[in-house]
Amino acid sequence: MSYDRNNVFARILRGELPCHKVCEDEHTLAFMDIMPQTPGHTLVIPRREARDLFELAPDALAATILTTQRVAQAVRQAFAPPGVMIAQFNGAAAGQTVFHLHFHVIPRYDGESLVLHGAKMGDSAVLAGYAERIRACLDR
Ligand code: 5GP
Repeated sequence: MSYDRNNVFARILRGELPCHKVCEDEHTLAFMDIMPQTPGHTLVIPRREARDLFELAPDALAATILTTQRVAQAVRQAFAPPGVMIAQFNGAAAGQTVFHLHFHVIPRYDGESLVLHGAKMGDSAVLAGYAERIRACLDR
């Protein structure tokens, strides 16, 4: 299947849809998931078009995983969870719903299960606050 240039993340990258931005650089963008599975759930995407892990060239993939590590470190500082989950789905059968490659950075807490994937919209003001909190912890 070919890349759909109108998927929501492509539209966020073009500035056609808003997002609560955490950080960006030449190769990547990180922003809050609109339906967080735990507080602090952040997404990291490459700027380059790729439906999934298998379509992205190694240089862009390297940049994306490095941003994922940087964001995960900031999320850990900001929320102090005992665990941080990194998740990435390829294909609808694996649970992928947006077909632009992305890594989920999800803080995890002992005994706390995840809110169902894509189930409940987060409050915009709360997400803005979380993004600010994570930004303040970048590279610390
Ligand atoms: P997937 O199921 O493809 O791994 O994850 C897609 C993620 O994107 C879901 O966690 C969902 O909540 C999130 N998402 C879907 N649409 C939007 C949107 O318009 N903005 C943001 N920030 N996240 C979105």
